[in-house]
Amino acid sequence: MGEVLRPLDNERFIVKASSGPRYVVGCRSKVDKEKLTSGTRVVLDMTTLTIMRTLPREVDPVVYNMLHEDPGNVSYSAVGGLSDQIRELRESIELPLMNPELFLRVGIKPPKGVLLYGPPGTGKTLLARAIASNIDANFLKIVSSAIIDKYIGESARLIREMFGYARDHQPCIIFMDEIDAIGGRRFSEGTSADREIQRTLMELLNQLDGFDELGKVKMIMATNRPDVLDPALLRPGRLDRKIEIPLPNEQSRTEVLKIHAAGIAKHGEIDYEAVVKLAEGFNGADLRNVCTEAGMSAIRAERDYVVHEDFMKAVRKLNDAKKLESSAHYSADFGKD
Ligand code: ADP
Repeated sequence: MGEVLRPLDNERFIVKASSGPRYVVGCRSKVDKEKLTSGTRVVLDMTTLTIMRTLPREVDPVVYNMLHEDPGNVSYSAVGGLSDQIRELRESIELPLMNPELFLRVGIKPPKGVLLYGPPGTGKTLLARAIASNIDANFLKIVSSAIIDKYIGESARLIREMFGYARDHQPCIIFMDEIDAIGGRRFSEGTSADREIQRTLMELLNQLDGFDELGKVKMIMATNRPDVLDPALLRPGRLDRKIEIPLPNEQSRTEVLKIHAAGIAKHGEIDYEAVVKLAEGFNGADLRNVCTEAGMSAIRAERDYVVHEDFMKAVRKLNDAKKLESSAHYSADFGKD
């Protein structure tokens, strides 16, 4: 294996073999010579060192695993009660990817990325998936805490690899969940682990600045602690848009409940409004849970359909369970600048 350093003429190339030495070699006639630009990985014949074929970029296994998260087929109709947020997200992510000429014509720079913030379980991940599957983009999902490595410089390298991969596979949406794990405010002092996290953040900022606005790579970051984020990350030109995903209100809760109840075998009239009235402070994930619980209660009663009373029982049960939870709080005026 080797890497093309430079084409010499139409027939000959300087390559650096993986063992170290450099050679001037020829290439098999079937290989597309256009592709043999500097930096391309190639396979060399063992004895003659002739270039046999080109190879794709080396992909770090960690980055490769991120990609194997299929966004699935999520449509906007599976997201309940967030129509304003969907519109704003489509404007900042979908429009620049699909119609970049609109931005060129007006002469403005499209946003590179958005921050979704709000309490857990309100559909941030769901929304990012819906965007990616709607425009058929590649979807890289990263849980930020997972890229912090114990070796110095490793996490920063992963960030670089990730952006490199995204650039090679446009259009691509990079979704970083729990961004507060690396995007926290920087302190002047800290342990060596803190410094590694800071280096990772610096690399992330560097990469965000590096990619072209009209490139087909967009960032979506999500957090439930926007107040601890480093201001440098939120600067315009990096994450331009901040979209709040709040806890659903009564109307949104009804929508979400209906979405999740759609696939359930039901019997008789279900009064969703009455169920939702009891579900004060529930998030989307809780509402999905209400449906599961209702189904469980039907199974317990040896029925194969769910009736209204099952939903009521489920919501009362979850209400009791929720009292034990504490909710995440963040400063109320975040993002209102
Ligand atoms: P977050 O990333 O905000 O913590 P998720 O997007 O992972 O939350 O939501 C968890 C689950 O809750 C989703 O898979 C979905 O089933 C359900 N859910 C949350 N919000 C909504 C919503 N607005 N509409 C429909 N389902 C929702």
